[in-house]
Amino acid sequence: MSYSIVTTRHGWSVENAARERVSPVFATRGAAIEWAAKRIERTAPQDRSCLACQRPFRSAGIHDRLCPHCEHHQDDGLGDVQRPTIRSRA
Ligand SMILES: [Zn+2]
Repeated sequence: MSYSIVTTRHGWSVENAARERVSPVFATRGAAIEWAAKRIERTAPQDRSCLACQRPFRSAGIHDRLCPHCEHHQDDGLGDVQRPTIRSRA
């Protein structure tokens, strides 16, 4: 079972391996990841796909859902291209 975090017109949501949307739409990517992680926790054993890059990696536990590479770049996991520009500029 693998999920992808995808952008939608209204925010972020989660798709399953069949490209069907399985979650509500979230305002932030983090919230979508959180939702997917919770679902994965219920179903997956220790080998998980990284939620950011989909690469399989050895998870240390249910809290561990990003591969070591992405964990280091959590603030900027998808790069500038997909970064939502919701921050307000005063
Ligand atoms: Zn990764």
